[in-house]
Parts: sequence; structure tokens; C-alpha cells
Amino acid sequence: MTIERVGVVGAGQMGNGIAHVFALAGYEVLMTDISQDALDRARGLIDGNLARQVSREKISESEKDAALGRLSTTLKLTDLGQTDLVIEAATERETVKTAIFEDLVPHLKPGTILTSNTSSISITRLASRTDRPEKFMGFHFMNPVPVMQLVELIRGIATDQETFETLLAVVERLGKTAATAEDFPAFIVNRILMPMINEAVYTLYEGVGNVSSIDKAMKLGTNHPMGPLELADFIGLDTCLAIMNVLHDGLADTKYRPCPLLTKYVEAGWLGRKTNRGFYDYRGETPKPTR
Ligand code: NAD
Repeated sequence: MTIERVGVVGAGQMGNGIAHVFALAGYEVLMTDISQDALDRARGLIDGNLARQVSREKISESEKDAALGRLSTTLKLTDLGQTDLVIEAATERETVKTAIFEDLVPHLKPGTILTSNTSSISITRLASRTDRPEKFMGFHFMNPVPVMQLVELIRGIATDQETFETLLAVVERLGKTAATAEDFPAFIVNRILMPMINEAVYTLYEGVGNVSSIDKAMKLGTNHPMGPLELADFIGLDTCLAIMNVLHDGLADTKYRPCPLLTKYVEAGWLGRKTNRGFYDYRGETPKPTR
């Protein structure tokens, strides 16, 4: 099946990155959100990020203009009904995602493929709430989308081979690389990454180290480009907590218990970079550790 028109639901960190790479690869992109502000911000960010690619000579000015010309936005979810592929990248909450698919399904073309960029929620369960579980897949991009090479492809129990192969071809056209994961909580990347981040928060909570020493230790001691707390701020602490809860509930093992300190930061609304405060405070010129 050929994909030409792509719908992106959610214009947050991930949605804007996904819209960016699809528009640049030549797809017609229609992005929706519940907030006009989020749509306007996303368009501005995409414009700025494309401009950075031009200044680094990764793309030409005309490629940038063509990509922006292929991108449109709408507040009406049902406008996405005419697209060939829908990528849901809204808030990591199952009730939010299920409601989106339920509202969208009656307006879809018969062949439209539905996907979710969820970091952890069961693809099989999300698919079962639609009229086309065989055309439903996990399509997991990494943050920041224009920079990161990997896309995790997750087949639900009912996903058919044609859908899988169509998405594999899409990943290739984007110039990215796919890794296939089975549909178990948090798939591959986050199954391994999130317990490490959660353990870094426990290390902080128990006073083994402070924010700076933990990040320094992991950067210089294991050659990670970012420390785990810096990375958690980058991902969003609400998203990290949501993924830990999915691992904890889905695998019923206490080793996935979310650190109470992570919960505390989320309760405070200190969600990381997106709210200007998390394990670091980003309101000044340089990020300052909050503990
Ligand atoms: P975000 O908070 O930056 O953005 C979420 C957006 O969804 C917001 O703009 C919000 O207004 C919008 N939204 C909420 N309900 C909606 C609805 N009913 N209809 C349309 N839009 C709605 O979150 P994010 O970091 O972009 O994460 C989005 C998804 O991507 C999540 O499922 C998350 O697990 C996944 N993901 C995140 C990362 C990461 O590093 N942040 C990486 C991979 C995957």
C-alpha cells in the first residue's frame, strides 16, 4: 500500500518532530491537537528546526520551503479521516489515546493504517478498540525525531504482514532504521532505559549522589552522551512516570516500582524541560540542579 497523506495527532515534542521528518521526506502532513497554541508552537518549532538544518547544510532552503508547504494543521480530529496513515502522538494516557481512536474511526477510509507513538501502552489493547486491529501498529519514534536514527516497529497480535511491510517502507523513505519489537510493556528501548532512569532517581532519593554527581558519573563513567537525570528532564518526567507505571502494572514485578521522588516531581508540575523545571531548573542561563 502506498502512503502519501499522513495525519499526526498531538503537536507536542514528539508530534512536531514526526510532522517535521514526514514533511521533509515528501509526505503531505496534517497535524491536529486540542490546543491551537500547541499547533502554532509546533509550526514555529518545525520552522526553526528546518532553518537549523539549512544553516548546517543538511538540507537546502528550497527543501525547507517545500517541507513547510506540505504541512497543514487543524483543530478538527476528524479532518484526518482522509489520510492514508495516522500517527497518534498525544499525551501518554490510555484513556486519551482510546478516545482519539474511537472518535476517529467512523471518519476513516477503509485502508487507512492506524499507529500509535506510545512509549509503553499495549498496542494489542489499543488496536482492539478500533475497527481494524489488523491495520494497527506501534510506531515508536525517538526524541528528538529529526536527529534520532531508530524507529521501533511493534506488531500487535492481530497486525497483518502488509501493514508491517508498509511501515517498514515508510521508515526507509524517512531515511531511518527500524527495529522490530514484540508487544510487551514498554517494548525494547524503554524496557531497558526507564528502569535505569528510575534507578538514578532512587540513587538521588536515597542520597547516594546529588543530581550533578549522578549525571557526571554516568556520562564520564559509562560514556553516555547525557546523564540519566538530564535525559529524564528531556523526555518529560510525566512520561517517565507513566512508562514506569505501565511496566509495574503490566509485568507485576516490584523491580519496576516508580521512585516516590519521581512521583513527587510530577505532582509538583516539575516535568523537566517542557515546564522549565525538573531535576534541573532551566529558567536561568545555565541549568541548575534542583537537588
Ligand atoms: P507532549 O506532552 O509534549 O505532547 C502531547 C500533546 O498531545 C500536547 O500538545 C497535547 O495538547 C496533545 N493532546 C492531548 N490530548 C489530545 C487529544 N485528545 N487530541 C489531540 N491532541 C491531544 O508529549 P510527547 O513527549 O510529545 O509525547 C507524546 C507521545 O509520544 C506519548 O505517547 C509518549 O509516550 C510518546 N513518546 C515520547 C517520547 C519523549 O521522549 N518525550 C519519546 C517517544 C515516544
